[in-house]
Amino acid sequence: MSRPVRGRFAPSPSGRMHLGNLFAALLAWLDVRSLGGEMLLRMEDLDPQRCRPDYTRQLAEDLEWLGLDWDLGWQAGETEFCQSSRGGYYQEAFDKLKGKRLLYPCYCSRKELLAASAPHASDGARVYDGRCRDLSQEEKAALEGGGRRPAWRVRVPAAEVAFTDEVFGPQGQRLDRDCGDFILRRSDGIYAYQLAVAEDDGRMGITRVVRGQDLLSSTPRQIWLLEQLGYEIPTYCHVPLLLSADGRRLSKRDRDLDMGVLRQQFTPEALTGELACLAGLLERPQAVRPQELVPLFAWDKVGRQDRRLTGLRGPSVPGAGTGWLSSPAGTPAPD
Ligand code: GLU
Repeated sequence: MSRPVRGRFAPSPSGRMHLGNLFAALLAWLDVRSLGGEMLLRMEDLDPQRCRPDYTRQLAEDLEWLGLDWDLGWQAGETEFCQSSRGGYYQEAFDKLKGKRLLYPCYCSRKELLAASAPHASDGARVYDGRCRDLSQEEKAALEGGGRRPAWRVRVPAAEVAFTDEVFGPQGQRLDRDCGDFILRRSDGIYAYQLAVAEDDGRMGITRVVRGQDLLSSTPRQIWLLEQLGYEIPTYCHVPLLLSADGRRLSKRDRDLDMGVLRQQFTPEALTGELACLAGLLERPQAVRPQELVPLFAWDKVGRQDRRLTGLRGPSVPGAGTGWLSSPAGTPAPD
């Protein structure tokens, strides 16, 4: 039986959203609305050093300002959909994997990790060589006696995880070779992103995951974890990134493109028009509400090419506009 369509926004409240976050949020919203599904808002605030409750509130308010709504998930005054208060679920998932003998403590220090992992040829991500996999009880006791607190890694099989991304097409990864045993819980007790996302997407019944293509290479790990935890696998749609004029990925440090500045320069409709133009849904930016884009939405219009922004030259009044986007970034699309 097919599951009801449910998509999600899963932002990290570690600063004000930038244009790229908003671009992904609009596409996630359009994807789910064009399928008649439900939207869920989950705050990914696992890292207490980077995330703050005032960012969380601001983030929700910025989404609403643009006209993006959600049917379930985060609400002011409630923490159920904040990852920082979902530790019990992550613990359950962790215990389940531990019960399957898939986890082991890893005592490697940062410096040791550099020696214990080699950069993977294709993307430079480091692949751990598994040196803590088979430590004896005595070795573990000695390390703990010396004051080391372990992180916990999951033992990945020599197996290929394949899936078809709705935008980037067929994808595959050999887990042992391409990513290696990865961390599920840090030595300070904080659960890792991969575990929290897999557990949440599974438990929340997410059927559509739309997010930036920088997370494409995390997807096989998440699919494998979802399988180990007994959940169904969502459909994945990774969206091109917005790049700065000099080709860098936008980050929350790019303050000139954050929502604080954008809201001073644009009306919600004008900004939506700019985003729609970047997405390939409009030829020219024009004032539009997200709802009006629903009938225009199709993934083949969006395509795979990252977009390079040529600068903030957009309109401050509805209806006018020159657009930021001059040319696709020329980043070659993967096969
Ligand atoms: N929280 C992540 C971010 O803001 C996104 C995670 C996801 O969509 O899986 O980059």
